[in-house]
Amino acid sequence: MPGVGVASDRGGACEASGAMLDLTPDTVLGAGGLLSRVMPHYEPRPGQLAMAQAVLDAITDDGILLCEAATGTGKTLAYLVPALLSGRRVVIATGTRTLQDQIMEHDLPLLERAFGQPLPVACMKGLSNYLCLRRYHELSPQSPSLPEASRHQLGLVDAWLDGTESGDRAELSELPEDSALWSQLQSGSEIRIGPRCVHHAACFVTQMRQQAVKAQVVVVNHHLFFADLALRGPHGAAAIPDYDAVIFDEAHMVEDVATDFFGVALSSTRLSTLARDARRALSAAGLAAGLEPLVARLERAAEAFFTAVPRSAAEGGARMPLPPGAFEGRLREPGFALDDALEGLGAGCDNRAGDSEAVAQIGRRVAQIRKDLARLSEPVRGDKGATPVAWTMARGHGASVGASPIEVGAILREELFERGLGVVLTSATLRAEGRFDYLRSRLGIEAEHGAVEQVSESPFDYERQAALYLPPLPDPRAQGYLARAAAEIEALCTLTGGGALILCTSLRVMNELERRLQPRLGLPVYAQGQAPNAKLLARFRKQGDAVLLATASFFQGVDVPGRALRLLVIDKLPFDVPTDPLVAARCRAVEQAGGRAFKDYLLPSAALTLKQAFGRLIRGRDDRGVVAILDSRLSSKGYGKVLLRSLPPALRCRTMPELEAFWRSQPQADASIHD
Ligand code: SF4
Repeated sequence: MPGVGVASDRGGACEASGAMLDLTPDTVLGAGGLLSRVMPHYEPRPGQLAMAQAVLDAITDDGILLCEAATGTGKTLAYLVPALLSGRRVVIATGTRTLQDQIMEHDLPLLERAFGQPLPVACMKGLSNYLCLRRYHELSPQSPSLPEASRHQLGLVDAWLDGTESGDRAELSELPEDSALWSQLQSGSEIRIGPRCVHHAACFVTQMRQQAVKAQVVVVNHHLFFADLALRGPHGAAAIPDYDAVIFDEAHMVEDVATDFFGVALSSTRLSTLARDARRALSAAGLAAGLEPLVARLERAAEAFFTAVPRSAAEGGARMPLPPGAFEGRLREPGFALDDALEGLGAGCDNRAGDSEAVAQIGRRVAQIRKDLARLSEPVRGDKGATPVAWTMARGHGASVGASPIEVGAILREELFERGLGVVLTSATLRAEGRFDYLRSRLGIEAEHGAVEQVSESPFDYERQAALYLPPLPDPRAQGYLARAAAEIEALCTLTGGGALILCTSLRVMNELERRLQPRLGLPVYAQGQAPNAKLLARFRKQGDAVLLATASFFQGVDVPGRALRLLVIDKLPFDVPTDPLVAARCRAVEQAGGRAFKDYLLPSAALTLKQAFGRLIRGRDDRGVVAILDSRLSSKGYGKVLLRSLPPALRCRTMPELEAFWRSQPQADASIHD
């Protein structure tokens, strides 16, 4: 096994200590290993050790590993430790920024204590997470256009800036997630002006990149990883340093993130932000008077263009197909007018670029938007031959138009699996019905890639810790279903005394259930949208007996160990919406390739989502709880068996008395049953 401190042939020299030479996963994670010396009551986990060895093999042999590691296996250390021991430059791509923070704030310090030395690990996030010093200094606190809330937030930023080393907004927990002020301060690929910036040396982004270059293990998220992959292409640009291997955690999300990054989209928000930033840059450079008419013209053209974009009557935020030929029909003239306006502003900025880097940078942004508009308006073939699917989306006053690749397998094969890198894909949910076939087919992993499959089973005793309740309710599409579902949820919440997460497959159902449950439960009831998700979850955790209603974004990534979450309700089987243009196009592609859209795509996709949702309940060996799935198709349809086989082996209950018996047998029952 190679040690640490070895120069990486692709990723460049890595800084690591020779003291770690000759360590193995077993000497770190095993009985009597380094971790056991810093963690009281440490118990080695065989599934974790097996995974760590398989990850190490994949990194050192440039292999591909598909590893499903159930909740409780200690998956993060099972990839972080071999990444460090491999001596190669490894990128770890997490599904969320929260997991990045958890690795840096929890797992890394633990390992540093175990190894007795600082470890060569750096974290990189998307540029919008970092404060741009240039924009901060450009922003005038006296500006009359700065609303009162932003003025207050600016005070928080000023105080934080005195002490922060990273410039990462995650440290500023008091700042609202949707802070309008932050959008005026954040960095971004369309914001950065690089070495010509007077703040370049002190710039947080510059420093973050320098640390990443020196590190052996770089922790990014999927978004940044794919932004980098999309950048690399033929131009040799890159956002993250070269690497020998990549480990994807939450790898079930890879297809969706890759689809976003290899597609193209243009939104009304992107154009209004451009206009706002252009005004600011021009006014800072003393050019406002000359170029303002160009900015105003762009705003008018953007408004006319997005007014012409077809809107759906469906629920806000749903994608709808852009009719074929739209750019030759209703979008033709507004599209030309928008491009003309962009060209005018771009030329104006380019002519005055010598006066100000910020103005030159606006010119580059304009050029990129023109390129994206051209990609959207030309009926192009996708980068790897497949025709992308064109769509529009409207929410409130805003709208977007975009084109997404129908399948990313061909792209990933070329850009990832056939680059001679080590690639590890891990998650608690990679297999549908016990097989990796679905993941392989969606990501383009062929037999000749020689991918190794590994499963680390859960250490939890699901039959004892959890019950799966399948009440006999009407079909969720039938009339009267919602009233019955609300009554069932009320009975369940009474049984468990709250501690309930109600996952709904649509906003409409969530709102309707909230309206019915709020006055009847006698428990604190929260609903998604009342506060930022992280804040809502923190309230829910703290409260202990709350009921939280939420939609798709809570199906994964929610981690509430202990009693605060003891009841999970799912209103309906989470099938992808077949009218979504991308889903419809994927279904057609599966059929054209000789498969069956429902069996080979929609069903396994729903099985993985359901398994993800189920995974929110049991987070530790002492957790106990109930998962109730209110969709009777799970029992009445043949495919219900496929979905059930994908779920952990919890005790099945079909009636309330059965469920009550389970609940009363649990150690915590006395505290929660309401008589
Ligand atoms: S280098 Fe870029 S991100 Fe950094 S301060 Fe300057 S403009 Fe902002």
